[in-house]
Amino acid sequence: MKPVFPGTQSADGRPATLGVMGGGQLGRMFVHAAQRMGYETVVLDPDTQSPAGMVSHQQVQTHYDDDAGLMRLASLCDAVTTEFENVPAASLTALAKTLLVAPSAACVAIAQNRIEEKAHFTACADVSGVNVAPYAVIETLEQLQAVPASLLPGILKTARMGYDGKGQVRVKNAAELAAAWADLKSVACVLEKLMPLKAECSVIVARGFDGSVVSFAPQRNVHVDGILAVTHAYPSNMPVAQSIRARAATESIANHISFVGVLCVEFFMVDDGTEHGGLIVNEMAPRPHNSGHYTMDACDVSQFDLQVQAMAGLPFPTPRQHSPAMMLNLLGDVWFDSNSQPRTPDWQAVLALPGTHLHLYGKLDARPGRKMGHLNITGADVAAVTTVARQAADILGLPGLDA
Ligand code: ADP
Ligand code: MG
Repeated sequence: MKPVFPGTQSADGRPATLGVMGGGQLGRMFVHAAQRMGYETVVLDPDTQSPAGMVSHQQVQTHYDDDAGLMRLASLCDAVTTEFENVPAASLTALAKTLLVAPSAACVAIAQNRIEEKAHFTACADVSGVNVAPYAVIETLEQLQAVPASLLPGILKTARMGYDGKGQVRVKNAAELAAAWADLKSVACVLEKLMPLKAECSVIVARGFDGSVVSFAPQRNVHVDGILAVTHAYPSNMPVAQSIRARAATESIANHISFVGVLCVEFFMVDDGTEHGGLIVNEMAPRPHNSGHYTMDACDVSQFDLQVQAMAGLPFPTPRQHSPAMMLNLLGDVWFDSNSQPRTPDWQAVLALPGTHLHLYGKLDARPGRKMGHLNITGADVAAVTTVARQAADILGLPGLDA
């Protein structure tokens, strides 16, 4: 394939242009990275006020499966990527008829469905060396009734559309399981055994059309109420052996499906009686990920730079992390005081702290649980980063620093 070089023009004089399906914050940070490199950008999103649409050169304002909108996007771009995994796979297939699309519809379809995702992880377990938590597929009453007791207590998860802990119910016994499945309208689900988590981590990998692969070192993640709260990104964040295994497993998971683009794979570190515990693969996202936001300030290339370079067919630099870092997620809760009254967070105090990098996504309407931005903290050493993270969390009232 021919790379799409920034600053070039097509035969009819259109500047090299990259498109993204979806207008959320991941699309916005993608647009920023693409524009910095000299590309024009187009966002396809139905919303008039989307975080990415507001900063893009152009927006195609239609639904993700609108034929006319997709044709317009295709006419405006040289290559298209996606910023959310629930983009209709059929839309990516349609776009791929005339332009570069990364990741492919087939890869996105796997990540959209926990049943297929687990089958994929299982199929490459021999090569990746990492398996999934014990689970059962529940699509029928017979499958529900056949669930072995060894999977309980467990977590029932919808096969599709789950994110940030939504579409999940914890169940202790068969009766609770049956009730939870009914509550979820008996849609296709997986029941996963509840694992004794020591910690969680994730790995960001980028893979090109030519099969070249680069990745970042694993980051350790702390979730609060099912939503990412804190990411620890420095070499001492987990045992070295685990880190090496997770990174290698992620690369083989991407290779196995010839993934092109940026992929994030989430892992559990579980207590299995051994000193460092076992490693289990949880899920993957076919795009940059909240847990990779620290790369924007702590590395010489970010996950969004790599997304641009992957879809455009450019070579990858090997990313280098130059500073230890932590990322604190800023949910809408921060915009309310202890009496639930709206407030402006004390940026004056936060931004006076050394090594703080504030990223807000342009969302004007703060709601509890809504991802409004993140604060990256970099420093000369882990102690400095940890101290500032603690101070910032105290000022803003952020959770998750004790885990
Ligand atoms: P989401 O799509 O909402 O991120 P996940 O499958 O990653 O869904 O689950 C969200 C969180 O719930 C995980 O990060 C982890 O903290 C917890 N969790 C999920 N599955 C398990 C499990 N099998 N055992 C223990 N904890 C789990
Ligand atoms: Mg998850």
